[in-house]
Amino acid sequence: MDSAGYISEIFSSFQGEGPFVGERHIFVRFLGCSLLCGYCDTPYAMREAGPARIEEAGGGFKRLENPLTVRTVIEAVISQEIFPGFNPKLAITGGEPLEQPEFLRAMLEGLNGRFKTLLETNGILPDALLRVKDMVDIISMDFKLPSATGKGEFWDAHREFVEAAKGRELAAKAVVSRQTPTGEVEMAANILAKAAPDALFVIQPMTEKSATPSPEMLFEFYSCAKRILKNVRVIPQVHKILGVR
Ligand code: SF4
Repeated sequence: MDSAGYISEIFSSFQGEGPFVGERHIFVRFLGCSLLCGYCDTPYAMREAGPARIEEAGGGFKRLENPLTVRTVIEAVISQEIFPGFNPKLAITGGEPLEQPEFLRAMLEGLNGRFKTLLETNGILPDALLRVKDMVDIISMDFKLPSATGKGEFWDAHREFVEAAKGRELAAKAVVSRQTPTGEVEMAANILAKAAPDALFVIQPMTEKSATPSPEMLFEFYSCAKRILKNVRVIPQVHKILGVR
């Protein structure tokens, strides 16, 4: 209970991506991610620097110096339950939470199943996933497409990750840009189909207007993935449309 880790922010908001879009969640955003994707929309959460921003029950925020103890994080999470019956899910996000697997595990052990827990991850750290898998209810992984991240290929890591996720509910997301070839969507869908054919596959158009794929491209991506998987959706980042964090 007394280990410490790096947190960017803890707050509650509408879930803007993936299978539970529109639900109210408590978010724990981990600080630090070594991938540095070109399209990252949380650049403030990529480096281990600065204090954590914690939403307060009466409104407003306080800042706490990093690293935070497990106890501090748990108290901050529980304080986000703003009314009886609120019953939000807990979204573990980043940054990349699986870059701090021991701290994440200690935090989830401390919460002792109080919230249904969604782990949002870049999907390239299978060994770290195995450290925490039994503590999370749903794994929401990214497929990092070379055309969108500008970071080369992660197909082998994604393959291992999907295997490692077996036994837990899995959803996957691929951010697509105007530069994305259909073959990258096909590769992601095939990897998912091999180990998790029932998993939801979300095609998420890049939010930045100049990079958003055309409607024709989105129809083509969808058709390609739907020939391989049962459960495919095209969903934009809804929290950006709503103007919430
Ligand atoms: S993996 Fe996620 S948090 Fe890390 S740089 Fe890419 S988009 Fe940002």
